[in-house]
Amino acid sequence: MKIALVGIGKIAVDQHVPAIKNSPDWELAATVSREGSVEGIEAFTDLGQMLEARPDIRVVSLCLPPVPRFDPAMQALEAGRHVMLEKPPGATLAECHALDRAARAAGLTLFATWHSREADMVAAAKAWLADKRLEALSVTWKEDVRRWHPGQAWIWQPGGFGVFDPGINALSIVTEILPDDLHVTGAVLEVPANCQTPIAARLDFHHPGGAQVTAVFDWRQAGDQTWEIEAVTPEGRLVLRDGGALMEIDGESRGQPATLAGEYPRLYRRMAELVAQGQSDVDLRPMTLVADAFTLGRRETVAPFSEDPDAA
Ligand code: NAP
Repeated sequence: MKIALVGIGKIAVDQHVPAIKNSPDWELAATVSREGSVEGIEAFTDLGQMLEARPDIRVVSLCLPPVPRFDPAMQALEAGRHVMLEKPPGATLAECHALDRAARAAGLTLFATWHSREADMVAAAKAWLADKRLEALSVTWKEDVRRWHPGQAWIWQPGGFGVFDPGINALSIVTEILPDDLHVTGAVLEVPANCQTPIAARLDFHHPGGAQVTAVFDWRQAGDQTWEIEAVTPEGRLVLRDGGALMEIDGESRGQPATLAGEYPRLYRRMAELVAQGQSDVDLRPMTLVADAFTLGRRETVAPFSEDPDAA
């Protein structure tokens, strides 16, 4: 199937373009971006023009930041195209619901992707936890914002999610691997004095079985990132490391990596299946947890953020 990529920036270049190029399911047929392009691929700067000029392209994948994503997503659906959304699927829950309704009404596929759910050991962790009683779960998601979001001003603007941009990846795994739904009971959001979104956050959750569930997100970690989820049960302690790429149970590495390598190749495989089956996949639970953390969160103002670590 022919596909168009919209918003040729960091994640499009790092992950989407190689995943599409190496996929037997997809042909990258056009890009839409004001500045970016992909060598050898027809490039548009306006989505409306692409939709008009290329009726043969039935699928559009949006790699824009969350705030500017709703209008092009709706425009593509209204033009009868199937749509794939980067995470988080929108700036607000209401706009995600609106896209979901529009896709269903038109009989089109909408895929709100969560790339971290496709990490190698997430399915194995889900299977191991399925019949266990959870006693405690803690998320530790710490990374260097200057390494992962160099020069990206949008993450600090309203709707930019701040540290929840990576934090929602952890929550997408937690909501996938736990058999029970959680909800946020409290949060502390550390917001730099010159920013609109948090650089760090601590969350507490209600678990229906009474387990203690917490999460710590921090963008001020220098050096290597820590992307870990630890689940304690009477039968043992499971740790997902490296964002779900590795799994340990009681200190021993377990599980076999999934056969199709890589998070984004799996996302594109799934999109091909969804389109073929005429289905959508829109799970907004990770986004709901983040929205509730913003609703309940106590703000603490912390040191201003600077791209230059020496000035911070
Ligand atoms: P980015 O490079 O800052 O933005 C992607 C592209 O979107 C830009 O190159 C720009 O293309 C377009 N764009 C940016 N702001 C815009 C605006 N206000 N209006 C219209 N177009 C705009 O962002 P990214 O890091 O690729 O992230 C995009 C999405 O992918 C986010 O939701 C993020 O959470 C997700 N994601 C990112 C990463 C990562 O490592 N960075 C990893 C996984 C997922 P033009 O100027 O050429 O139009």
